[in-house]
Amino acid sequence: MHEFSLIEKYFTWANPPSDVAVAVGDDAAVLNIPKHTQLVTSVDTFIAGVHFPENTPPEAIGHKALAVNLSDLAAMGATPKWFTLALTMPEIDDAWLGDFSLGLKKIADQFDCFLIGGDTTRGNLSITIQVMGVIEQGKALLRSGAKAGDRLYLTGTIGDAAVGLATLLDNFSLAAEDKHYCQKRLNYPSPRLAQSQIIKRYATACMDVSDGLSQDLSHIINASNVGASIDFSKLPLSPSLQSLNHQDAVNYALTGGDDYELLFTIPADKEDAFLKEMKQKVTCVGIINDDFGNIRDQDQNQLSGTGYNHFNGK
Ligand code: ADP
Ligand code: MG
Repeated sequence: MHEFSLIEKYFTWANPPSDVAVAVGDDAAVLNIPKHTQLVTSVDTFIAGVHFPENTPPEAIGHKALAVNLSDLAAMGATPKWFTLALTMPEIDDAWLGDFSLGLKKIADQFDCFLIGGDTTRGNLSITIQVMGVIEQGKALLRSGAKAGDRLYLTGTIGDAAVGLATLLDNFSLAAEDKHYCQKRLNYPSPRLAQSQIIKRYATACMDVSDGLSQDLSHIINASNVGASIDFSKLPLSPSLQSLNHQDAVNYALTGGDDYELLFTIPADKEDAFLKEMKQKVTCVGIINDDFGNIRDQDQNQLSGTGYNHFNGK
């Protein structure tokens, strides 16, 4: 198959939304940005063997490559609109492309995010997606607004994806249904866009947890010039994580990445109103304080921020 028929078959989507003036097929896309909004954009590269095991199902690769980008928009409080796809692959494999583009299209449709262009090249498998969204002027949710006294919250549960990865790479043994659940959390993360629309009206700071709670929390406290304490007994653990030895479960929850939950801070006087409106699961795991740069547990022990770091030791 020729590169152009490949693009036409898999990546030229029907029925572009009205805010897409020119989509795939010309030299560049042309977009109508809604009045009184700011453009919010983020890019993530996904490399086989680094960001996902080589044998990950292609449908999951398509899903996750967009999901992690949508999660960045959720962390900012933005509404997804469009994305571009730079795809590098070793060969043209119709079955692979069919499954990959299906996974991509399903999640794109779910969150109304339209593919407007990209680039296709030959090489080791790598997927780069740049996502674009919009937000009302001045309303973006940053990492830098947390204040002493704010409550520290998480959506969903954490540690699942890291356990899922351990079952794939390290032969970590787990009951079949727990294994299935954790691998699904690893391969099919759900960007917390619905939650983010409520969070953005109450939170002082927000980010998505991609590298592990302790490391990602250190970004919020450094950006906000504050400290934080976490109560380990409050960490939201799925039934699958609760089936592990408790210390292991807490370690996965603190240092495991890839869950794509939102970590955010809510001022104490807004907590009741926030909780009344938020119907999905959220959990208060700690509090922001003025112990600058430090994260401590319930016994005042200092946490080391050890999540995933691509350049560790290099
Ligand atoms: P150019 O050489 O001008 O950069 P290309 O031949 O790379 O153009 O791409 C032709 C059209 O197909 C462009 O509109 C581009 O955005 C689109 N395109 C190329 N690869 C992809 C892809 N993987 N996904 C979506 N659109 C793509
Ligand atoms: Mg061109």
